[in-house]
Amino acid sequence: EVKVAGRRSYRFFTASMNERASLRRRIEAELRLAIAREELSLYYQPKVDAIDGHIVGAEALLRWFDAEGNERYPTEQFVAVAEDVGLIVPVGAWVLHEACRQADVWHRQHMGVPIAVNVSPLQFQHANFLAELRTVLDNCTLDPALLELELTERTVMAGGDATIALLQRIKRCGVRLSLDDFGTGYCSLSYLKHFPVDALKIDRAFVRDVESDPDTAAITQAIIAMARSLAKTVVAEGVETEAQAAYLRNAGCEQLQGFLFGAPMDATAFGKLLAEQHLRRWATDRPGS
Ligand code: C2E
Ligand code: MG
Ligand code: MG
Ligand code: MG
Repeated sequence: EVKVAGRRSYRFFTASMNERASLRRRIEAELRLAIAREELSLYYQPKVDAIDGHIVGAEALLRWFDAEGNERYPTEQFVAVAEDVGLIVPVGAWVLHEACRQADVWHRQHMGVPIAVNVSPLQFQHANFLAELRTVLDNCTLDPALLELELTERTVMAGGDATIALLQRIKRCGVRLSLDDFGTGYCSLSYLKHFPVDALKIDRAFVRDVESDPDTAAITQAIIAMARSLAKTVVAEGVETEAQAAYLRNAGCEQLQGFLFGAPMDATAFGKLLAEQHLRRWATDRPGS
């Protein structure tokens, strides 16, 4: 009896494990080809000033389109596979390089805003990360202040004592640092003051419930107050409604990001938004206008 049940559950377990493993192997194999075929690209999602709505930056987000223009897998799914099999290291290096190249183009057109790049735990812990960052910055004319690295709480907490020293070395390159998905990890407040980060990004999960759930509202207000007292910029991600935006603005959140202000878009579309904003500013700055 026990044996049969045990065998049955064992079979069931291995079947689903095998399914998952084979999907992951397929994604891995396809991703290796995708890299060689240059099927990866970056989309850009605006971050806006909570008060006046101006674009104050963008986040670069990885996308995978095949030759027919079909999206291959959700980013979260293929990034997770890339992280597990180590492919995130070369992919992450490409992302860093491509984001800096594009940011430099906008910068030279006098419409540069900081461009944020997501850095995965494995990439951050890789021995070559700092050297690679320096190489990328040396090889372009981009002002390092226009590059921002988004690290999650989990990434910085996993590294132990060496992390603070690494973050300080990264900061000395002149780039901006932000803590992504803030509030979902276990970053203690006492740690936060030691991290040389410029910004905190409040996770979408808080933003979603900020008006409907009093506990979420209280936590969100506490994060904003704490960030401001530590002189860090607070950004809210995943803002979808006018009501969420109004709540966050009133609570003192300085920057907003989400579908309400713009979904991630290709570089051409984001460049157009930057150009329009640049022209509007130029027009209103002219005397007599
Ligand atoms: P993330 O860094 O927290 O990025 C925010 C995600 O929320 C993005 O999903 C974005 O498209 C989505 N989003 C933005 N505004 C809204 C909104 O108003 N509502 C909703 N429901 N979603 C919104 P995406 O592009 O699918 O990326 C998912 C995750 O994949 C990212 O989370 C990040 O952790 C990772 N990722 C994306 N690009 C890269 C990359 O270049 N390198 C690494 N290591 N990870 C990346
Ligand atoms: Mg991010
Ligand atoms: Mg985020
Ligand atoms: Mg998130």
